[in-house]
Amino acid sequence: MITLKEALSLSKEELDNFKNELRKKIEENKELNAYIDVENVGEGIPIAIKDNIQVKDWSVTSGSKILQGYIAPYDATVIEKLTNAGLSPFGRTNMDEFAMGSTTESSFYGKTQNPYANDRVPGGSSGGSAAAVGAGLAIAALGSDTGGSIRQPAAYCGIVGMKPTYGRVSRYGLGAYASSLDQIGPMTQNVEDAAILYDIISGSDEKDSTNAMMDDKVVPNLNAARKLTIAVLPKYIENASDDVKEAYTKAIEALKAQGHTIVEREMMDAKYDISAYYITATAEATTNLGRYDGVCYGNRVEGKNLEETYYNTRSEGFGDEVKRRILLGNFVLSSGYYEAYYVKAQKTRHLIKDEYAKIFNDVDLILSPVAPTVAPKFGELANPMDMYLSDLYTISVNLAGLPALSLPIMKSSEGMPVGLQLIAKAYDEQTLFDGALSLEDAIAYKA
Ligand code: GLN
Repeated sequence: MITLKEALSLSKEELDNFKNELRKKIEENKELNAYIDVENVGEGIPIAIKDNIQVKDWSVTSGSKILQGYIAPYDATVIEKLTNAGLSPFGRTNMDEFAMGSTTESSFYGKTQNPYANDRVPGGSSGGSAAAVGAGLAIAALGSDTGGSIRQPAAYCGIVGMKPTYGRVSRYGLGAYASSLDQIGPMTQNVEDAAILYDIISGSDEKDSTNAMMDDKVVPNLNAARKLTIAVLPKYIENASDDVKEAYTKAIEALKAQGHTIVEREMMDAKYDISAYYITATAEATTNLGRYDGVCYGNRVEGKNLEETYYNTRSEGFGDEVKRRILLGNFVLSSGYYEAYYVKAQKTRHLIKDEYAKIFNDVDLILSPVAPTVAPKFGELANPMDMYLSDLYTISVNLAGLPALSLPIMKSSEGMPVGLQLIAKAYDEQTLFDGALSLEDAIAYKA
């Protein structure tokens, strides 16, 4: 598959031919179920779009039954920015319902296969985007990351996935899951493409009140030769599988060989991250999902009166995982439990943020696993608690609002990709991409 950088120099005719070939290839690989559909989209370099990002006049359903029939009335800001840069949305990719999940198994459209093994998950929630890029069915894709949904599927599918600093990329037109955690980001074949796509989609937007209103770009200053100080976390990685530990050691050696300084640091037990995240995310999700009641959006199931219509619509429209989270979110916000759970989670969130700040006092980047294992088999994370626990390495980054990039390091003994992530200070995407480029050069991963 050509890279985004290469695609930028294709003529109109070459691009049209490429798109025709791409359509055929997507059709031939239908069983992968990476795309929900491939809509025709006019001119520009084709970019696959997660099904929770609005493209005017396309269906947009967040992988849910409740949004069947809903057509986006306007473009998300990232889509406007893509189009202005000569790119165009090309196909909706599969995802966990409302981005709640780590496997893409909760989608209304059925599961997506991992391009490296058809009995394994592609990760989630942006599993369709990751599988499309990993299988050579997209040049690049957009995903969204609330607690790892870009980085983790990227790691499972052998591609690069980047979650920007909270506020760098407009959330206008993104189906909200947990508004204080969500960010849209690039999913690409390599680090340079991620930087290119990040530059295109990031920047100020008055339609998003949490936007950082910053327009600096990384590509003009990309510099893999910078010597950085990078923290590693020997105790924190103890819960990871042998494959992940091996990748970690390999990456440390590669970074040393590139002339970076490696220092050892520690992070508190990730069990606190899991609690703080699943309380915060479900509380916000409960509030955000209140709008899907069959009146304003999508699929309605009529009842005898308004209350029964709400009841029927939501009972039939939402899947089990979404219902579970609505229940949990309402519980942690309810009077009597609010102080005990929600407020405590916010305090823990501050602790996590402070902990990162302390490490970043004297280091440029942190090297961390993305997931404890390679991509699990279908059904392996069927117990929700197992699934939540598998998010231990990604969610603190969202709680602290930091930028992070996941990139492939090696293949496991079973031939599955193993990815690791670099984490940077808030708004320091430049150092993140510089360090990631350097690590990518040294590792020379082969897909
Ligand atoms: N797996 C996490 C969750 O289910 C993260 C999902 C995401 O980043 N959207 O909430």
